[in-house]
Amino acid sequence: MALKNLGSGRKVKSLLLPGGKGMFFVLGIDAATWTVITPNLSELRNFKRLIDIGKSKTITLKEKPISASVWCGMFSGKLLEEHKHESYVVNGEIVKREDIKVDFIWDVLEREGKKVKALNVPFVVPPYSFGVNFKPIGFGLPTNEKEWNEELERVTAKAKELLAEKPDLLIAIYTLLDRIQHFHWGEDYVVEWYKRMDEKIGELIFDTGFLDENNKLIVISDHGFCSFGEAKVQTLPEQTPEGKLKGDHHEDAFLVTVNVDYEIERPQDVFFAIEEEVS
Ligand SMILES: [Zn+2]
Repeated sequence: MALKNLGSGRKVKSLLLPGGKGMFFVLGIDAATWTVITPNLSELRNFKRLIDIGKSKTITLKEKPISASVWCGMFSGKLLEEHKHESYVVNGEIVKREDIKVDFIWDVLEREGKKVKALNVPFVVPPYSFGVNFKPIGFGLPTNEKEWNEELERVTAKAKELLAEKPDLLIAIYTLLDRIQHFHWGEDYVVEWYKRMDEKIGELIFDTGFLDENNKLIVISDHGFCSFGEAKVQTLPEQTPEGKLKGDHHEDAFLVTVNVDYEIERPQDVFFAIEEEVS
């Protein structure tokens, strides 16, 4: 059979290379919450497109909605009792990657010879990157509009660059919505930032053509958000040097998947979904 009959060069290549599994992209959005997304979908065009083509659900955490612990569990597959990492700071000391005695999905896959990149993963501060040279904005705790913008732009630009390298797995995480919601929960200002995030999702997922091929995608948050007084767990003191907090973490997290068969019921399942699809 003549190869030219098979169509475009790209199709020929994928037909001739069985076992080419495509890329797996986990886009983490710290604190993304359905209670902001759902009522604003008419203005969040790319969230809407994702929800339309993918499978979406609420993940209700059984564990405390603490960012450090949830992201750690998500990428190690372990429960808090096993990874024992509950907080960015313990006894006045910042906890480092080396202090957490677990393998993460990037460690596991790299040993298998896979090409893995992880960008700005906030299970520690400053957020952790693997196989990527990246300086987190504001030590991973961006606190003002300038820093929020900078994080949005720089994480997007770096993630695009990494997608173009076609790794087996890319994990990229934005932290800014968590910070914005702590300070501005209940204000229209929060929706404005979701719209900016929505544009970046469009650039990353749709403008790059990522979903045109047989690639796999998870878009997920570590917890949702609610007003400060409503939260079952207080994650920060109400009074901060930057002002009084208006919002805090809620146990309902956001999830949309595209082309992922593994059923994700809790953060830890992200580890197993990746392991099953990429290993
Ligand atoms: Zn968080």
